[in-house]
Amino acid sequence: MYLSKGYNSRKQAGFRCELCGISANDRALEVDHIIPHNLRGPDTIDNYQALCYKCNANKRDTDSTSFRDWKVLYETRKPDCIFCNPEESRMLAVTELAYVLKDAFPVTDGHVLIVPKRHVDTLFELFAPEMNSCVRLLKEFKSHIEIQDPTVQGFNVGVNVSEVAGQTVPHCHFHLIPRRLGDVPNPKGGIRSIISGKGDYTE
Ligand code: 5GP
Ligand code: ZN
Repeated sequence: MYLSKGYNSRKQAGFRCELCGISANDRALEVDHIIPHNLRGPDTIDNYQALCYKCNANKRDTDSTSFRDWKVLYETRKPDCIFCNPEESRMLAVTELAYVLKDAFPVTDGHVLIVPKRHVDTLFELFAPEMNSCVRLLKEFKSHIEIQDPTVQGFNVGVNVSEVAGQTVPHCHFHLIPRRLGDVPNPKGGIRSIISGKGDYTE
């Protein structure tokens, strides 16, 4: 079924304004570019947002963000960074703003990394369209992995932020780690186990 950009964006926003959270039943939602079209913002789903008419009008009046040229803004790469310079043939999927790589040292079979193309050290520096792109790829690969391997019954999704938290490649990436029944004796707590012994708080 063909979905118009408006339908998709409102659905993606959960039928609520992406800024103030008001329901579409209470205030009509308008779909607009995050990086404005006249500043050459891309016509991709990741660059749309659904805002209520008040937030949208407010944004037009007050938004002084200077996206001089979004392409330049999004083109930051570091010459020595492995995630800035991946071989295209190794990418499992690619969008305008992000791509997917098989993890070279997988925690479990099927472990992939979702990587924004622009060089940013951490998740907290991502622009909204990059975050959208990464989340979309996470969802797509979650479904793809489940179809490919019916033994996968769960996932851990994780982002290490800074060396102190265990980040070894200083270019933002999301881990998507498939989980299978019995892959560890007691999975309770999941990512809580980053601190040894803190996983299962029900014990
Ligand atoms: P971090 O520790 O920064 O959260 O995660 C880095 C991830 O990158 C690790 O899971 C590691 O296995 C993976 N990795 C390290 N070097 C390479 C590489 O050259 N290619 C790929 N595809 N993954 C890598
Ligand atoms: Zn990089």
